Amino acid sequence: MTTIRYANDKFELEPNESVLECLTNRGVPVPFSCRSGVCQTCMMRATGGKPPETSQQGLKDSLKLQNYFLACVCYPDTDLEVALPDDDDIQAVIPATVLSLKLLNADIMHVELECHAPIDYRAGQFINLFQNQALGRSYSLASVPHEDDHLHLHVRRLPQGRVSGWIHGELRPGQTVEIRGPGGDCFYIPGNSEQGLILIGTGSGLAPLYGIIRDALSQGHSGPIHLFHGSRDLNGLYLSGELQDLVKKYSNFNYVPCLSGDGVCHGFASGRADEVAFKQISDLKNWRIFLCGHPEMVKTAKRKAFLAGASMKDIYADAFNVSQSS
Ligand SMILES: Cc1cc2nc3c(=O)[nH]c(=O)nc-3n(C[C@H](O)[C@H](O)[C@H](O)COP(=O)(O)OP(=O)(O)OC[C@H]3O[C@@H](n4cnc5c(N)ncnc54)[C@H](O)[C@@H]3O)c2cc1C
Repeated sequence: MTTIRYANDKFELEPNESVLECLTNRGVPVPFSCRSGVCQTCMMRATGGKPPETSQQGLKDSLKLQNYFLACVCYPDTDLEVALPDDDDIQAVIPATVLSLKLLNADIMHVELECHAPIDYRAGQFINLFQNQALGRSYSLASVPHEDDHLHLHVRRLPQGRVSGWIHGELRPGQTVEIRGPGGDCFYIPGNSEQGLILIGTGSGLAPLYGIIRDALSQGHSGPIHLFHGSRDLNGLYLSGELQDLVKKYSNFNYVPCLSGDGVCHGFASGRADEVAFKQISDLKNWRIFLCGHPEMVKTAKRKAFLAGASMKDIYADAFNVSQSS
């Protein structure tokens, strides 16, 4: 039986249990968000023993050498002594003031944050926003550093969602929150400006895509840029006016709102965003693809894009993984 030591406690790891599950199931307040090794909210350090390499994927080499690991994907077969990270080693927590909160549709809140210290990010990356020390969630950046003075997030309220519910129901302008970041590699890299871009998002998956599109256009991307934004019904779409304005301003930008439910009206494509996209553009050789939002859509679309000729190095994705239990 593998044991996990934390502070003065010693826990036995159940079969197929991650270090994160082992600790949180026994009341240890380890912050976490995606539970799939992406957001790095649950980063911990092994102070005794060696964490499996698979639990260190995506970490900087300097952190790997110090035995940092992601607790949500850590399944050790030897004993580990673990601790929460030292603040000096990981990205600093930055306080940020909430400047405004505005509903973009019934479920999605636009959050504008003013950081108390400079934050160097690319449009489309994500930050981790903390409700308290033990509860943080990842939110993608819809803002563009050289165009927007502040950070912009689009937060979808989930039924019984702790952090999204707090943001929608309790957070107020003027309040200070703590953030950490940025993270992720889903962003526009200048160069190859004639390459076609396809961006597919569902729900608040538009957040990073809205940042990436404005970033690419402002940096003079000249190839075609197609955005497919999907929702079940009309109420789930948002920023349509702003996106139509971009269509008028840039002849290479095309916006396709997609509705997967019944009763699709004129001006909207019928079907799921990824299905519509791959029907309209079937040969994806040499295209750059961005996929954000529902994890199932991201997974399926990644596979379809690859099978339709896109190179894996040209596929950028952020699955909005949501934890399945407390
Ligand atoms: C890299 C990354 C970027 C992200 N960016 C964004 C973003 O820009 N905007 C955004 O809104 N979110 C984003 N997310 C998701 C976000 O981090 C949170 O997971 C989300 O806000 C839910 O957190 P919560 O604390 O409110 O919910 P939790 O308290 O964690 O509870 C979630 C509960 O909702 C249930 N649930 C899961 N999916 C659904 C569903 N589709 N409908 C109803 N219930 C469901 C789960 O079973 C779970 O019980 C991102 C996630 C990742 C990993």
